[in-house]
Amino acid sequence: MSFWKEKTLAQLSETEWESLCDGCGKCCLNKLIDDDTEELYYTNAACQLLDRHDCRCTHYESRFRHVPQCTRVTADNIGELTWLPDSCAYKRLHEGRALPSWHPLLTGSQEAMHAAGMSVQGKVVCESTVKDIEDHIVLWPLKDID
Ligand code: SF4
Ligand code: SF4
Repeated sequence: MSFWKEKTLAQLSETEWESLCDGCGKCCLNKLIDDDTEELYYTNAACQLLDRHDCRCTHYESRFRHVPQCTRVTADNIGELTWLPDSCAYKRLHEGRALPSWHPLLTGSQEAMHAAGMSVQGKVVCESTVKDIEDHIVLWPLKDID
């Protein structure tokens, strides 16, 4: 059953909620906000806990112990997390859009997502190696493909 079509985000079980995450890793990139314009910029500097090949958090269950500033995405706060990429499954559903054709729930694996360039795979560095974060601003996380 396509549970994401039958239920609202608030009605999802924890397992359903977690399975909606495509595992793109884009939300684990450091972001910058221009003080004057409040414009958001993504960088290719990934959180130190991100597996840069699998694009998954290496300590997901205990992540807040390691990275207190990590954000838990929930049905309650999804509307406020404007910095999430437009491709994010939670953001898409919250905005009334459908899951993209490359989403793992539709394809059965993450391969189509990686092949479509919709994840961070092969494109990021660990934040711990970054000297000047402004040198790492990138536009590709803004890309969204249906
Ligand atoms: S951007 Fe959204 S779908 Fe992608 S990893 Fe983050 S929470 Fe999951
Ligand atoms: S702690 Fe894990 S989920 Fe949070 S930003 Fe870092 S890699 Fe992503």
